Amino acid sequence: MSSITNRISVLLPVPVDCAYTYRLPDNISVLPGQIVRVPLGPREVIGVVWDDPPDTLSEKRIKDVLEIFEGFALPDDLRKLIDWTANYTLSNKGMVLRMALRKEEALLEDPKIRGVVKDGPDPERMTSARKRVLDLLEGGLAWSRSGLRDTAGVSMSVIDGLVGQGSLSTLELPLQPVAETPLADFKTNQLFGAQIETGEDLKNAVSRAKYDAVLLDGVTGSGKTEVYFEAVAEAIRKQKQVLVLVPEISLTNAFLDRFASRFGVRPAEWHSDISQRKRDRIWKAVMRNEVQVVVGARSALFLPFADLGVIIVDEEHDGAYKQEERVIYHARDMAVVRAHLNAIPVILASATPSVESRSNVEQGRYRCLRLESRYKDVALPDITLHDMRADPPEKGKWLSAKMVIMVNETIDRGEQALLFLNRRGYAPLTLCRTCGHRFQCPDCSAWLVEHRFRKQLSCHHCGHNEPSPRACPTCENTDSLVACGPGVERIAEEAKEIWSDRHIVVLSSDMFNGIAQLRRELDAITSGEADIVIGTQMVAKGHNFPQMTFVGVVDADLGLAHGDPRAAERTFQTLGQVTGRAGRVTGTGKGFLQTFAPEHPVMQALATGDRDTFYEHDLNQRKLVGLPPFGRLAALIVSASNKPDVLEYARLLARSAPISDGVRILGPVDAPLAILRARHRMRLLFQAPRGFDVSGYMRAWTLRAGAPKGSTRLQIDIDPVSFL
Ligand code: ADP
Ligand code: ZN
Repeated sequence: MSSITNRISVLLPVPVDCAYTYRLPDNISVLPGQIVRVPLGPREVIGVVWDDPPDTLSEKRIKDVLEIFEGFALPDDLRKLIDWTANYTLSNKGMVLRMALRKEEALLEDPKIRGVVKDGPDPERMTSARKRVLDLLEGGLAWSRSGLRDTAGVSMSVIDGLVGQGSLSTLELPLQPVAETPLADFKTNQLFGAQIETGEDLKNAVSRAKYDAVLLDGVTGSGKTEVYFEAVAEAIRKQKQVLVLVPEISLTNAFLDRFASRFGVRPAEWHSDISQRKRDRIWKAVMRNEVQVVVGARSALFLPFADLGVIIVDEEHDGAYKQEERVIYHARDMAVVRAHLNAIPVILASATPSVESRSNVEQGRYRCLRLESRYKDVALPDITLHDMRADPPEKGKWLSAKMVIMVNETIDRGEQALLFLNRRGYAPLTLCRTCGHRFQCPDCSAWLVEHRFRKQLSCHHCGHNEPSPRACPTCENTDSLVACGPGVERIAEEAKEIWSDRHIVVLSSDMFNGIAQLRRELDAITSGEADIVIGTQMVAKGHNFPQMTFVGVVDADLGLAHGDPRAAERTFQTLGQVTGRAGRVTGTGKGFLQTFAPEHPVMQALATGDRDTFYEHDLNQRKLVGLPPFGRLAALIVSASNKPDVLEYARLLARSAPISDGVRILGPVDAPLAILRARHRMRLLFQAPRGFDVSGYMRAWTLRAGAPKGSTRLQIDIDPVSFL
């Protein structure tokens, strides 16, 4: 008779908040973390043995574990991280687990590849195709069949024919490992100036193997990457695993090659362009400690590292670390949590750190290491503010005469210029001059953006596309539609008129089918093929274009227009990053910002390079109104297919808020994006003092209000970054 003691808790990757209880066969035991198959209603699912105590339901209601996958387990720290993340973000634990687990295919052994060797006599009849195959197999080397076919340039039937004749025999070959072992000292660079102590410090931090949060704050081109490679090297020496998080866009060939030239091999990569099968293999290899270094986008944080030694978060200020759907979490913050759970160091690197991280340094929670000058004391770019009120471009144009002159000077010297505008497409609004009709998304409260290159109008919020119109749908006038405002395509059009004989490259995320193509374009720019690059945000991040010496910002005020609490910080970071592309090698970089508000503290800070004054100003502003880091925020977004339902639940929420000292609730009000994907949206903003348990409060609050019904949804965003 099975006893109640042979029960276990299993967390399933489905939208549930707690582990379920299952029964194990007698005499079999499992450890927390092990992966098992269990029934769930009519289905069978993969789950993870969880640390919670099983419950004491009657024996009849408990189902049996169906299968135990030996050798597969989620490590301790990852389970704790999952609990922690779910608790902090108010997400279902099962949904957080889903980010850490793979489908069942990943639990199968890697398939073997079919290969051949020559171990028989030559065939009776020799053909040139056969000869090519046999030449390659000379010396007894084993080849995969497909590799042999492609290299010899023959059809598979030639190879199979030789097998049939007894000249070759088949065998099974193992797959190539997902990543080779890196070598800590494959090729070290001599560190320089402040890099020396900083590198030494980070190396020691890894070797101490204690929790240690370090902000590596260094201007663009100061060698932050070079320096954190010292930490990577030390971890490799200690045979520890390393996770380097980067914004997906920065995961370029140039970065991987740089890693390979330092450590001898490329790291394992983890991002959206890696196939599911490859990801399954990396996941497994990471779990078995067969992969030492993973460089990955946000989601790599939930990989099952067996023996992590350090986490590095490059460009720690980057908004891409915040996941805005399903589980709403900030990978930088959760990286610090994971480092804490593991008692290992975490290194946050940036040229423009987030205000939160700077404040954590001031509070003594993080240490700060600074690199104040560029490598070899290369000068930082010289930034000019161009007052668009005093000296605007010609009507209908976007580039001022001064900007054009500066680009000319740059390309005449054989160097590269970058024109930056953080807006995709041709124009952000299309309007009918006759009747005033504006093209709006049918499903969102947003204008449609014209993409002339694709001949479409697109909604940048939901992805709706429609063909570009020939006539106004309201007044039916043709020749009456005008494009309002510029996007990168329009800047490209203007640039192609001015510099018709020059090589111009446009980089915008909507123009690429995947990372591979983008990487090719970036490689081409790095090798100097383009004279002028025109791009959005994606060119700003971390790239190193040796010949780029001029960066012109078409509309420096663009990011300030949103008016959300982080607008100034974000603008400072984006423009600091993008102008930081200039003169990284030559030291003769120039930045040129077209602005209608040259007196704005952001513009002033960029022009003078006085980062500390900017941070101080921004912190003072936030202090006045109790914004983070002086207080805490959470956003509650209520949405439903109709407005009355939204209003009803949003008001119910506002009424049910528990009373608590120092807490303020603003709203409900219509969200700036009042309709998204045909759902109406309202927002409440919750503000509390520093140190307040926001997650706990939210739990009590939502319990009192009760779950939304029907089509109504409530989304809770702790520490919001976006305010749309
Ligand atoms: P950051 O990450 O701070 O922007 P990088 O580490 O990318 O800076 O360094 C900027 C450039 O300077 C890179 O091309 C890098 O190869 C070079 N560099 C920096 N430090 C060194 C060093 N100690 N030895 C050789 N090259 C260096
Ligand atoms: Zn839309």
